Amino acid sequence: MSAEAHPSVETHPGEARTNLVVMKFGGTSVEDAKAMLRTAAIVRGRRERGLSPVVVVSAMAKVTDQLLAAASAAGRGDKIGALAIAARLRNRHLETAAELLCGDLFSSIEKIIRHEFDALDDLLRGIAAVGELTPRTSDNVVSFGERISSQMVAAGFTQNGLNGVQVDARTCIVTDDHYGKAVPQEAAIEARLTQHVLPLINAGHTPVMGGFIGATEQGITTTLGRGGSDFTAALVGGGLNAGAIEIWTDVNGIMTTDPRICPDALRVKTISFEEAAELAYFGAKVLHPATILPAVQKSIPVWVLNSRNAANEGTKITAVAPPCASPFKSIAAKKRLTIIDVVASRMLMTHGYLKSVFDVFDRYHCAIDMVSTSEVSISLTVDSNERLPEICAELEKIADVKLEGHKALICMVGEDIRGQSGISGRLFSAIRHVNVRMISQGASEINMSFMIEESDVEEAVRSLHAEFFVDPDPTVFDTEARSLATRT
Ligand code: ADP
Ligand code: ASP
Ligand code: MG
Repeated sequence: MSAEAHPSVETHPGEARTNLVVMKFGGTSVEDAKAMLRTAAIVRGRRERGLSPVVVVSAMAKVTDQLLAAASAAGRGDKIGALAIAARLRNRHLETAAELLCGDLFSSIEKIIRHEFDALDDLLRGIAAVGELTPRTSDNVVSFGERISSQMVAAGFTQNGLNGVQVDARTCIVTDDHYGKAVPQEAAIEARLTQHVLPLINAGHTPVMGGFIGATEQGITTTLGRGGSDFTAALVGGGLNAGAIEIWTDVNGIMTTDPRICPDALRVKTISFEEAAELAYFGAKVLHPATILPAVQKSIPVWVLNSRNAANEGTKITAVAPPCASPFKSIAAKKRLTIIDVVASRMLMTHGYLKSVFDVFDRYHCAIDMVSTSEVSISLTVDSNERLPEICAELEKIADVKLEGHKALICMVGEDIRGQSGISGRLFSAIRHVNVRMISQGASEINMSFMIEESDVEEAVRSLHAEFFVDPDPTVFDTEARSLATRT
């Protein structure tokens, strides 16, 4: 499409740019040259409908994990191990670029890939020499995944007539310096996007930005936390007042549970922001928990779609959930949790005691998922993390502390559990063979959650799915897919 023919996205300040769509493609959607070409075809489809896409991409599948492995090898002083991982990554990127691109486009991207990997090697050598990995250098190392994938995807777009242009996310996604989980500065981001990205769209380009990474005002590289590319998409959508945000992944949308655990999971056609946020927070990896907020604030609809099956309608996330005859929309499971029992002798109700317990978690920036109290004890659940020994040492100053690891939280989400009786009975009878360690209903009116052993997750999820999704409401769930699956 020529620059002249491309619809302009200029509007009055604050007004929605209805024809601007932010399209985020996850790691599996850019895992190799074929996947990058599928991505280009999907983006072309949007442009042919008269939309202006801004594209956010993850690192190629598994690259972030491998970069983290290289960083930690270097941090242990294992220079050879770290450089070997980087060399394998360099080859994978070069081979993908060679399959995707030709001519001058290949030469220029090849040069960029070699240059970036030379810089990564230098960085790893430096970390290995010092023998210490700080959160700040770790963010720098992992940022290479999205920095390089966005260059390759932008070049792939150009080769396919989409006028791709890479935008370094670090020029737009301004964050604080909380390395590893930096907090975005939304006003600054909006200003930077208006300055760097809008003119490109209006000139007929398809901007491509790496997700997950950002930089402080001083230009130091940061990351938004694992799975953070979804968050970038929402920040870009919010900052540009986009008409829609599309999260392209490797499943047909938000499903009734993780299809890897339960192959007969069904696609949920529509889900509310509130339900999706609850699911994401409690472990449904399909969406980053922070994704929803910038979209909700500006009422931007979010879609979750399948890049391997682009014709599928996906899931639409909307402000209000449609009426649903089934009590639950989806089941999420969050593993690697630890239960901490804090036991005090008849002191619990003493003024200020609970505060002193929670203050300890606050000091270590440790989020608590579930709490239950009795007269003398508090049980809390937290993500298993390397600060737990320090947290426990502090708690032991005020109480006896007991830790139990390898726990998991199951969270059943649905607007329609409000006011329904008999649901808990059905739920716990479906998993009567599973040992339930803690229960919570009430923190939010739209979820029921409980803690079990990590090893029981698969059995519990399948039993609950069989109980609650045997006869799902066809207006909310894609029951068509189930009848097709059973036919073949
Ligand atoms: P991406 O690389 O595109 O960001 P992710 O691996 O982060 O993809 O998220 C997609 C995966 O989330 C799916 O492959 C699926 O296994 C998992 N998942 C967990 N819970 C759900 C759910 N309720 N609906 C859909 N997918 C889910
Ligand atoms: N590449 C990053 C990760 O694997 C961010 C993302 O893909 O969302 O966590
Ligand atoms: Mg993800």
